[in-house]
Amino acid sequence: THHGRIALVTGGNKGIGQQIVQQLAELGMTVYLGARQSDLGVKAAEELRGRGLDVRPLHLDVTDQGIVEAAAAYLAGQHGRLDVLVNNAGISGDITKQAPTAPDLDIVRAVYETNFFGPLRVTSATAALLRAAPAARVVNVTSSLGSLTAMSAPGSPLAALPPSAAYVTSKTALNSLTVQLAKDLRGDGVLVNAADPGACDTDFTRGTPFKAPRTAAQGAAVAVRLATLGPDGPTGGAFNEDGQLPW
Ligand code: NDP
Repeated sequence: THHGRIALVTGGNKGIGQQIVQQLAELGMTVYLGARQSDLGVKAAEELRGRGLDVRPLHLDVTDQGIVEAAAAYLAGQHGRLDVLVNNAGISGDITKQAPTAPDLDIVRAVYETNFFGPLRVTSATAALLRAAPAARVVNVTSSLGSLTAMSAPGSPLAALPPSAAYVTSKTALNSLTVQLAKDLRGDGVLVNAADPGACDTDFTRGTPFKAPRTAAQGAAVAVRLATLGPDGPTGGAFNEDGQLPW
């Protein structure tokens, strides 16, 4: 049973993150709903609390070192440990301005600040709390677009996508970080994996020409499974609904 477990989900106020918050809380966890815009976090948490779930808003902009450290200090004071961390917050950046031959470097940097430095910042700030938990789980929400193998496979539908120096490479970097975090936390009983939610219909994909067939709840389920792995579960891998993915 997951009752009494403490979880933190970044970017929890909408989309896949909100569904991850809900599903973890439905398992009985106390879930901190991280949101960079406090008012949106409070509103989203209130809605879930109204359904009897133990969901608490936490101001968390993953690009802001001071805010991240304050959030970690708050969790340390309240609980002294963190059982589940889901690094979900992510942005695509303007996809028309990230071709590697003509990039807007400010966009590339902004995407990395959220998608790569964000998980690195939040995980390092909470590392002592994860180590203090009996069997913590870390899940990094990645994308199949970050898979070098899938991207370079002949005939892959991913090959038809426009080249990107920002979003795509940031998720590849996040995958690599997942492997290195797993290595760093291996002796502490902490399992670290990457979750590919699949193409989900959220604000993220609504702004693009790509049709996303999955619901946010379906995408969230992949992350929730990795957040609730038993002691014999994998670490340092990437998974989608169907199983393990190639790097
Ligand atoms: P949404 O755009 O619906 O939600 C993104 C969430 O991240 C929002 O809560 C947003 O907050 C938050 N966020 C953005 N920047 C920050 C920041 N600096 N600090 C804290 N929170 C932040 O996207 P999805 O739910 O679709 O995506 C969630 C994750 O899933 C992302 O990492 C994305 O890359 C990944 N993914 C999504 C796929 C899809 O098809 N939807 C496919 C593969 C991967 P705010 O509301 O304030 O903007």
